Amino acid sequence: MADIVIDHVVKDFGTFQALQDVSLVVEDGEFVALLGPSGCGKTTLLRIIAGLETQTAGRVVIGGRDVSGLTPRKRGLAMVFQNYAVFPHMTVFENVAFGLRMQKASTADVKRKVERAAALLHIDSYLDRYPAKLSGGQRQRVAVARALAVEPAVLLMDEPLSNLDALLRLEMRTELKAVLREAGTTTIYVTHDQTEAMGLADRIAVMYGGKIEQIGSPLEIYATPATRFVGGFIGSPPMNFIKVRCEQGIVRIGNITLPCPAGCEDMELGLRGEDAMIAADGSGIPFDVRVVEPMGSHLLLTGSINGQLARIVAPPTATINAGERVALKADPSRLTWIDSNTGRAVG
Ligand code: ATP
Repeated sequence: MADIVIDHVVKDFGTFQALQDVSLVVEDGEFVALLGPSGCGKTTLLRIIAGLETQTAGRVVIGGRDVSGLTPRKRGLAMVFQNYAVFPHMTVFENVAFGLRMQKASTADVKRKVERAAALLHIDSYLDRYPAKLSGGQRQRVAVARALAVEPAVLLMDEPLSNLDALLRLEMRTELKAVLREAGTTTIYVTHDQTEAMGLADRIAVMYGGKIEQIGSPLEIYATPATRFVGGFIGSPPMNFIKVRCEQGIVRIGNITLPCPAGCEDMELGLRGEDAMIAADGSGIPFDVRVVEPMGSHLLLTGSINGQLARIVAPPTATINAGERVALKADPSRLTWIDSNTGRAVG
């Protein structure tokens, strides 16, 4: 079993608190992405799990063993970091074999495990080459193959695909997902790229300001954001937030009324651009279209609702012009209600 328990971890850098009481359980074989904007503490948390950084308070338990005081090597995990280091003076084979040699694996084992990892990452046809003769994507695969070759129970990755172009990123993402699922590796993966997190992870921990804002499956965090931050960070375009007043459980926007959760007056109505439909009968939330962008698969409409910026997604063939006012409808179950004072979802 290689579950990971992060138990009330705090990290102070002088007077600055980079992690504020972070707790998280990653199940054996699970893939969890740490997702959040620059500076939210993702890398710091990963480095604490790896043993490269010491927490100010709290514990890290891997496979039932408190590893808090152990050196990185004694934690029994593999890592792939952003600036992946492949050794330029070693062939691809020797690079991938590195961890196995450190473990003093037998020659036969080294050969078998290197060939298996190389085949999984599709680098088996250039095992004799030196890194200088490889593309960036191939070098990246070497770094990942080296981490996988030791058959780690736990794999930590920090933006391992960040240096690749879009197509290669997609290709590598797909391969990583397949390989790690097949191996049953417990994985924690740091990224600021929501597409990557959504595509790869069983669960995503969305981080902001040194805290976990929400943890859930990709669908959960997309469909039911726990906070305004999560709604605005996940999804493209980001969720729209319209300031409204809720009076006796009713919100009025334009000529329509919507039931809202009771308990607070100042609220924001969270509406995903792709959940809004343009009402043929003209009755709905009034949306003033300012710019129409044909994106191929859809139209992106930017404009305002009640004077507040909103972005709406419409079918590619819809005939909508800048300057028009349209009416929007949405399934009430798809709306998010945010308490303006706390920034948290209610209802
Ligand atoms: P990015 O996506 O930009 O890598 P991140 O979410 O990984 O960001 P961290 O690198 O974990 O963020 O940094 C979290 C915060 O802690 C930042 O404000 C950063 O400036 C601060 N920080 C990180 N390392 C140190 C350090 N050694 N000393 C002081 N402050 C630090």
